[in-house]
Amino acid sequence: MAKDRCAGESSGKIESHKRGLRQEGKRWEVAYDKLVVAVGCYSQTFGTKGVKENAFFLNDVGDARRIRTRVLECFEIASLPSTSDRVRQQLLHFAIVGGGPTGMESAAELSDLIREDLKKLYPTLVPMVKITVFDVAPQVLSMFDDKLGKYAMETFRREGIEVRTSHHVEELRPDLPRSK
Ligand SMILES: Cc1cc2nc3c(=O)[nH]c(=O)nc-3n(C[C@H](O)[C@H](O)[C@H](O)COP(=O)(O)OP(=O)(O)OC[C@H]3O[C@@H](n4cnc5c(N)ncnc54)[C@H](O)[C@@H]3O)c2cc1C
Repeated sequence: MAKDRCAGESSGKIESHKRGLRQEGKRWEVAYDKLVVAVGCYSQTFGTKGVKENAFFLNDVGDARRIRTRVLECFEIASLPSTSDRVRQQLLHFAIVGGGPTGMESAAELSDLIREDLKKLYPTLVPMVKITVFDVAPQVLSMFDDKLGKYAMETFRREGIEVRTSHHVEELRPDLPRSK
């Protein structure tokens, strides 16, 4: 049985928690023989400037809800008569960075959501929608067999989802892209 249930935390640190620097909920003591810490991992930004501040991550249900809300918001703004076509196109261009399983699956799901459900609400906007997947590698799903990556790219091409491999996203800024 482990004796020190706050192993690794100095008494000063625990005090600072009590003073309210980290208020994450009620604390309680649990006796254990062996402790497994399996708290998952953070989404990688690969050090890309502006990603942490401006991108939507997709790791849990909360992230998925935020993405859905933003997609609907883009359609709502795009449907306003006061929105110009140029802004409409920018609002309806959804860029997914990362051609791994999560990026490819979310691109396919987004495409289904738009072409099957949102099409009923915004029939005139759907033809303006663009979905692009970017990956720095020359192929998507590079952790799997080559054939799977090629199959996914071919399927996406038929569905109108653009895949841009060998593309390195260098920075992500807020707001709409500036016109040159
Ligand atoms: C969009 C998406 C789709 C995926 N699809 C697949 C798939 O189809 N097939 C597949 O095999 N894998 C898939 N994965 C990967 C899979 O989800 C992960 O590999 C797996 O969940 C990792 O398990 P884990 O237990 O290490 O971490 P997690 O599942 O992240 O679990 C960690 C848990 O710890 C909790 N936690 C964190 N900090 C604390 C704390 N301080 N105190 C207490 N609790 C804490 C978290 O709330 C969370 O519940 C997908 C991942 C994503 C993001």
